[in-house]
Amino acid sequence: MCNPLSVPDTSANTNNFATSFRAAVASALLVVIGTQPVWAWGRDGHKMINRLAVQYLAADVPAFLHTPVALDTIEYLGPEPDRWKQRDAEPELVATQSPDHFFDLEYANLAGSPCTTGSTGCDAWAVTFPTKRYDFMRALAAAQARNPGLPLDERVGFAPWQVEEVWQRLKTDFREYRKLIAASQPTGPDETAILFDIGWLGHYVGDGSQPLHNTIQYNGWTGSNPHGYTVAHGIHAKFESIYVTANVKRDADVAPLVAASQPRVIDNEWDQYLDYLFHSNSLVETIYQLDKAGAFDGAGTPEGKTLADERLAAGAIELRDLIYSAWVHSADPVQEYQGPA
Ligand SMILES: [Zn+2]
Repeated sequence: MCNPLSVPDTSANTNNFATSFRAAVASALLVVIGTQPVWAWGRDGHKMINRLAVQYLAADVPAFLHTPVALDTIEYLGPEPDRWKQRDAEPELVATQSPDHFFDLEYANLAGSPCTTGSTGCDAWAVTFPTKRYDFMRALAAAQARNPGLPLDERVGFAPWQVEEVWQRLKTDFREYRKLIAASQPTGPDETAILFDIGWLGHYVGDGSQPLHNTIQYNGWTGSNPHGYTVAHGIHAKFESIYVTANVKRDADVAPLVAASQPRVIDNEWDQYLDYLFHSNSLVETIYQLDKAGAFDGAGTPEGKTLADERLAAGAIELRDLIYSAWVHSADPVQEYQGPA
């Protein structure tokens, strides 16, 4: 399914639209060259998202996921990938994993494929992406050759691929859990792997609900600015860290929003997760509008609070449903691995 927010164009002029869009973006953004930071929701936001996702899991997941140890471990791991950004101490790790935290849709679209009738995972510009990371990297390299003035490399970000790959690791470990139970074998070591996978996955899913993780406008408006949005670097941290820590209470503000939604099974996690990112990207300008009205200064405004609460809850709901879906789909039959084909 194409995103409901998408330009409704699966007709014959899709290719023309996509070509025009790409040309427009390329010319408009030639001056917008920079590197995306690895900031995230901030420590408090990530811990909140991870804990609430597990707290409101469906009842029919393995019982160990409902224990206090599981909650505490997964909460602790929420900020874990942000602990891997110490440039002076671990520069290779920082270089490799930093792009996993974001996805700059305006640039990524230049490496996407135009949607055609029957395409899935289409974004707001009627563009779709390959599901395998290295296929996307090759598409990026081709787009870079067409647009030499733009940073079309790892600076675009790989968040959808990171989420897909870690989700598949989680599904694998759930499948092992089922096998161990069936064989009456101890499950403790596999439970450890599952808790880590959930905590790790939760970080990137949480990043995705923060609109400024899905745009080139990630930290101050760039390019044409007719509405006079802030161009100062700082809006990113102000919204996701300073404002959240000072004003958002997990149990009083965010938990009721998560509790109000029912766990669901996602059957096409790739398309569904892209829809989640596309929706998050659609809120980028709202963040700037609210910021201009002082929504995230000090105690902020009710409108700013509503958005922050909703975005944090959206991250927890998405993570909860991805965990539940990994568990359910871990029962899907697979061929036994027999070594290299
Ligand atoms: Zn992050």
